[in-house]
Amino acid sequence: MARSQLTEALAAQLKAVVGPQGWSDDPQVLAPHLEDPRGTYRGTASLLLRPATTAEVAEVVRLCHVVGVAVVPQGGNTGLTGGGLPEAGEVLLSLGRMNRVRDLDVANFTLTVEAGCVLADVQATAEEAGLLFPLSLAAEGSCQIGGNLATNAGGTNVLRYGNAREQVLGLEVVLADGSVWDGLRRLRKDNTGYPLRELFLASEGTLGIITAAVLKLYPRPREMQVAFVAVSDPEAALRLLRRARELSGDAVVTFEYLNRTSLELVLATIPDTRDPFDEPHTHYVLLELASGRPGDDLRGLVELVLEEGFEAGEVIDAALAASEAQAADFWRIRESIPEAQKRTGAGIRHDVAVPVSRTHELLAQGGALAERLVPGVRLVFFGHLGDGNIHLNLNQPPGMAAEAFLALTEEVNHAVLDLVMGMDGSFSAEHGVGRLKRDEVARYKSPVEVDLMRRLKQALDPDGILNPGKVVPD
Ligand SMILES: Cc1cc2nc3c(=O)[nH]c(=O)nc-3n(C[C@H](O)[C@H](O)[C@H](O)COP(=O)(O)OP(=O)(O)OC[C@H]3O[C@@H](n4cnc5c(N)ncnc54)[C@H](O)[C@@H]3O)c2cc1C
Repeated sequence: MARSQLTEALAAQLKAVVGPQGWSDDPQVLAPHLEDPRGTYRGTASLLLRPATTAEVAEVVRLCHVVGVAVVPQGGNTGLTGGGLPEAGEVLLSLGRMNRVRDLDVANFTLTVEAGCVLADVQATAEEAGLLFPLSLAAEGSCQIGGNLATNAGGTNVLRYGNAREQVLGLEVVLADGSVWDGLRRLRKDNTGYPLRELFLASEGTLGIITAAVLKLYPRPREMQVAFVAVSDPEAALRLLRRARELSGDAVVTFEYLNRTSLELVLATIPDTRDPFDEPHTHYVLLELASGRPGDDLRGLVELVLEEGFEAGEVIDAALAASEAQAADFWRIRESIPEAQKRTGAGIRHDVAVPVSRTHELLAQGGALAERLVPGVRLVFFGHLGDGNIHLNLNQPPGMAAEAFLALTEEVNHAVLDLVMGMDGSFSAEHGVGRLKRDEVARYKSPVEVDLMRRLKQALDPDGILNPGKVVPD
């Protein structure tokens, strides 16, 4: 069936489904739903729907399916690839009112929540039960668990706990014809056919609309230690990571990298931040370890890791947080880098991954390549080194106009991504595809893989009404 545009008659039907609290056509209410955090994309919509139940989502999708009108699901709208923004004539469906906790099963270590629950609230609910929900990212105060699962978000604890994908046991999903798949299973073992749940994780709303999920919980760590470490080079950082994992019985939760330029941008633009060291260094890591074992001398273990690291020439200087406040200060430096980069001129950004063992090559070769393509460019390199996920970001060279720098985006992107893909890497490590990287899917994935993606889309959404123009190349 050909797709059509939202009509007044359909809008009236949809408003009746969600009730007076469940829709708005006020441009001021719609505005924050129509721009992405980086200001790269703008969406267009005349109607925002905010259903409160799965049944309402299902009826909205069913009505749209009947007439071939597209539906774009949206969570907290913190996505960085333009994936949740609608085009004119499409229906914008925000999950924010579906924010109930449906079940907490402490003995099963599971929490069942609706898709519109804000990630920080999910973490808080787990904490109130004395447990941990480990997914954590800088946008956690506004992103929603449905969006996290739809993008398979990563964040800072992947090394220890895995991506969003690994935090899910079951899903409830509204399919493209409005039927509801109830896969809210709380089972850790269930080999009964195709893993359907997997299809919807990282599908960015193109195969179904996630309305609820069963999440895995974990014991809370009793002790955490955070160290800000100056390392001699990224290869030494990798050796330090191995040392820390081995000596601590794999208690490393986070192993983040930042270069000197990243730190300098933060110090220059973010109030109340200070350099942890008296001397400048070229490469840093933020190391966090956590343990739930009573009597573990975690601090002693970190000291041992750093001591051995010094002796091996990996560590140049280290600051072990003496208090929670100091640990928070270290984290603030790391988490402020994207904001600091935004405040210091135009940027070209790459969220890429390579095998952890090749991250030092990526940093060296990526830096050399960028400097060759844009002499004087500022390398804002940082990221989740322990997962092989580096943000190879570039800021405009001093003295170069922003427009002239941004005009080089495509050339730089292709060169950087060619390098990454030549190192068995990924052109999108954790932010997804959305609109931004759809061409890269066509360019870098094999024809067999692209064909499989198209066949899945065709099978689950034959009329193409779910989040069209995202993820799957035309
Ligand atoms: C400051 C900042 C820091 C960030 N840090 C990280 C990070 O460390 N790691 C990381 O991975 N990401 C990060 N992100 C990106 C973003 O926060 C994540 O992609 C997040 O998972 C998106 O969740 P959301 O609820 O905002 O989704 P949205 O932006 O609303 O939507 C994202 C995509 O998911 C789809 N979608 C949303 N909800 C549903 C649903 N219920 N069912 C089906 N599809 C749905 C949308 O259509 C869209 O395609 C960061 C973003 C910001 C602004």
